[in-house]
Amino acid sequence: MIYYEHGDGLYVNLTNRCPVSCGFCVKQDWDYAFEGQDLGLKKTEPSLDELRSGLKEWMAKPRKYKQLVFCGFGEPTMRLTEMLDLAAFARKNCPGLELRLNTVGLGDLIAGRDIIPELKGCLDMVSVSLNTMNPEQWLTMHRPAGKYREKGFEAAKGFIERAVKAGLRTRVTGVQGSGADLAAVEEYARRVGAEFLARPPLA
Ligand code: SF4
Repeated sequence: MIYYEHGDGLYVNLTNRCPVSCGFCVKQDWDYAFEGQDLGLKKTEPSLDELRSGLKEWMAKPRKYKQLVFCGFGEPTMRLTEMLDLAAFARKNCPGLELRLNTVGLGDLIAGRDIIPELKGCLDMVSVSLNTMNPEQWLTMHRPAGKYREKGFEAAKGFIERAVKAGLRTRVTGVQGSGADLAAVEEYARRVGAEFLARPPLA
C-alpha cells in the first residue's frame, strides 16, 4: 500500500529503503504489515503520478484526515524529490491538511546538501527519531550503513537544530524501553527549541 491510515492521519509509504537498520524496527518481523495494511514495496516504489492520484482518491473518502504524514517502512528522504512534489501538491489541493515528515534525520547526508530550506517551504512539521544523546549508543541503536556511520549522529542533531532555526515546528522522539537516557534526549530537545515525545515501541 502507498497510503495507509493511523490515528487521525493519512500516511504515505514512499519507500522501504533506509540509511539505517534500527534495532527496534519491526518491518522485517512483521513482514512489512502494519495494522493489517501491507506496506511492502519490494518490487516497485510509487511513481509521482501514483502518489498524486492516490492522494486524490484517499482525500475523496468520507473520512477526514487531520495530517498527511510522510512515514512508512522506510526513510522518506530517500525519495526527497517525490516527497517535496507530493507535499506541494497536497498543499495546493488539500487545504487544512497538516504536513509532517517522520525521519531519522539523515536527509542532508542522503541528499548531499542542506535540505531544511526545501522542507521549510512545504511542510508544517518534522519529527526526528534521535533516541539517544550518546553517539556510541546511537550507532548501536540505529546501525547505520557504512557511509552514514561517521557523521550520522552529528548530522541528525544538525538537522534538528537547523529545522528549529528555520522556524519549522520540530519534534525529537525517543523510543521507550531501549535503555537510552530519554531524559537527556528531552533536555536536548527543549534546549534547542524542539518538542519532545517519548514513544512506545511498536509491538
Ligand atoms: S528508520 Fe524506520 S523503517 Fe528504517 S530501519 Fe529505522 S525504524 Fe525501520
